[in-house]
Amino acid sequence: MHKIKKIIIPGEFPGMNQIIHANRTNRYAANHLKQKTDHHVKMYALKAMREGIVLDKLPVNFTFIWYVKNRRKDKDNISSAVKFIFDGLVKAGLLENDGWEQVGNISHKFDVDKKNPRIEIYMSEQNIERKQKEQEMNKMELAQVYMPTTKKYERYELPDGAAFYSRDMDKVCSCAWCGKKLKFGDTYTSRRIHTEQGFGYGVCEKCYYARDFKPY
Ligand SMILES: [Zn+2]
Repeated sequence: MHKIKKIIIPGEFPGMNQIIHANRTNRYAANHLKQKTDHHVKMYALKAMREGIVLDKLPVNFTFIWYVKNRRKDKDNISSAVKFIFDGLVKAGLLENDGWEQVGNISHKFDVDKKNPRIEIYMSEQNIERKQKEQEMNKMELAQVYMPTTKKYERYELPDGAAFYSRDMDKVCSCAWCGKKLKFGDTYTSRRIHTEQGFGYGVCEKCYYARDFKPY
């Protein structure tokens, strides 16, 4: 089972505007604000590490959900605090560095929570994202079924989990005819259920002989 790698950091962070302002008025105060914020992040990163979170497959994709008290700050200003987060994660040792090698994609989501402002950080390895993409790719394709009687294709509604492509032969998918679960490597390529481009979906052995080769 894949454990979701998540860190929740309570509070609302200073935005870049606040830092720039602090920098103009008082260099020392600005630096202090940054140190304080980095340290806050570091504490929660260390806590997550004690609970067993490791980032061992690089690069890691980050999704930040910024829960703020109100809508006063602009989203770009809110998310500019991401710098503090990466610095804090590096200081804690959860992340070795915040370069391209370690950090994959970064995405931001925003919401308001007046009583409990916080940042939720979700971390996932690239290969998980690839699996999701594969899943979506299989789902997005419109399937069609060949009707030997009319020699035409008709729209076909696939069972959940049907797949015509998988990099991983052990991936569990569903027979495009009956929906039975089986490993992708054990499927037969259907001669009747195709993508619009003509790729055959994976089907179970029974359906393959009963339905793909049924005499009409
Ligand atoms: Zn089947």
